[in-house]
Amino acid sequence: MVSKQDAVVNLSRLLRSDPHSLGEITSSGQYLPDASLQGDDFEVHKPLNYHLEIRSVGDGDFLLRGTVRGEVLMSCRRCLKPLEVGWKSELTYSMEYVPGPAELTARPDGDDDEVLMFGQPEVDFSVLLTDVFAVDRPLTVAHPDGDPDCEDLAAKYGWDEQPAAERSPFESLKDFDVESTEE
Ligand SMILES: [Zn+2]
Repeated sequence: MVSKQDAVVNLSRLLRSDPHSLGEITSSGQYLPDASLQGDDFEVHKPLNYHLEIRSVGDGDFLLRGTVRGEVLMSCRRCLKPLEVGWKSELTYSMEYVPGPAELTARPDGDDDEVLMFGQPEVDFSVLLTDVFAVDRPLTVAHPDGDPDCEDLAAKYGWDEQPAAERSPFESLKDFDVESTEE
């Protein structure tokens, strides 16, 4: 099965509507983020689920609310094997329609808010959704305690495996018996 890589919502109905009427568009679906959008420390191996609500609040302004959830693979901090972890992220943004390029762009608004600007009625939310989702990932993950498949490599090899350069420089002399000189 080929999954789609975008999360396009057509907002033309909101743009056409009477400025005094308050329209709303909801959209749900699945998409598999493009590999270039994924983080170094996790891998999205199956599609993420999203739900979006875009509401006209008048004067060409819109309110976007939504969720994105899914399961990804991260390395277990003990055994380094891939482990499936899931979570859900929520997003809320103000949006503005400024006719122009199709891509969703963000401009700062106040100290830590951003307003999303879109230039065409068809908006692809996939980059935004992947960003929002990635921010909420756990820093580290591990198999449940006592999982027989989870071998604690750090504890097992952490102090046994020394790089050759750190071995004692006298090790190569160990066969040379300094005591053997006969007296
Ligand atoms: Zn593990």
